[in-house]
Amino acid sequence: MPRGRRSIYRALGLVAILSGACSPLLAVRAQEDCAAASTPMIRKAIKQVLPAAPKHWVGDGFHVHPVFSNKAFSAELSPFLMFDYAAPKYFGPSSKRRGVGQHPHRGFETVTIAFSGEIEHADSTGQSDTIRAGDVQWMTAGRGIIHEEFMSTEFSKAGGELEMCQLWLNLPKKHKMAKPGYQAITNQQIPNAPLPSGDPADGHVRVIAGSYNSTGGAATTFTPVNLWDIVMRTASLPYLFEIPAGHNTVLFVRRGSIEVSDGGGSNQQLGGQQVAILEQPGTLLEITALESDTSVLLLGGEPIDEPIAARGPFVMNTQAELQQANDDFRNGRMGR
Ligand code: MN
Repeated sequence: MPRGRRSIYRALGLVAILSGACSPLLAVRAQEDCAAASTPMIRKAIKQVLPAAPKHWVGDGFHVHPVFSNKAFSAELSPFLMFDYAAPKYFGPSSKRRGVGQHPHRGFETVTIAFSGEIEHADSTGQSDTIRAGDVQWMTAGRGIIHEEFMSTEFSKAGGELEMCQLWLNLPKKHKMAKPGYQAITNQQIPNAPLPSGDPADGHVRVIAGSYNSTGGAATTFTPVNLWDIVMRTASLPYLFEIPAGHNTVLFVRRGSIEVSDGGGSNQQLGGQQVAILEQPGTLLEITALESDTSVLLLGGEPIDEPIAARGPFVMNTQAELQQANDDFRNGRMGR
């Protein structure tokens, strides 16, 4: 171990890791040594920071920012299709139902995450539930579901802050007509894994889907997907995250700001509600929070190498299948 390295570890207060064992507790440089010991790994760089698209209302309850902007429904972001984010917004008390009335979906999944406030849903399979702060609803529309999404009656009555997002995740052709279903995942069911510093005070990774280090996510997915809610409470600690090879990866800074370093001297900063598509090559991602209380959503997934035909609430492979979806909906053959 060269002296220089040793002093870096000491400076980071992580002298104890010098035993040589590879663990998630390692500082960035030590993590890198471990990674390099097995296979050569390179760090991902930011390919593009997407322009902020104007916000729009979904129904009368969700004032959303279309995070993927003009890249929505493109092969470049596969398996992710669309991502709406409703920034924290206060709603006064109301007896009115605010949200989106009955509408169909076919051919993909919707992932709704509530950060504050409450959303309730009811659908054509007879299910209904409330998504509370921290909860995730993973809905498989599959062959078809008709549902409605509203702020919960209780939340509407009391008023309060709503912050949520909904991600649309594609299904491969062989699962597009799967039986519709839900995974109602409560906040408590989502594992919190420690950040590489190992100190819970520095934050954690909420592993919603996929896996982070040795922690498996709460959701079951049809194709390999990582959905991590990364909470960084301490600024200026560089963290190295390992990303599976070949995945498309998107970073969304929900709160605070970060710096992404490609290891070659090119550092890029992202502020609140900015989104970046990462280069596909590379399996390591170095992120440093630039301020305390920073939160980043990492979306990573194996691309589904199939044509995307999308129209409104249906996402299929061909125009003929979209037409079929439309006919099925109009003729009452969807959602049963
Ligand atoms: Mn919907």
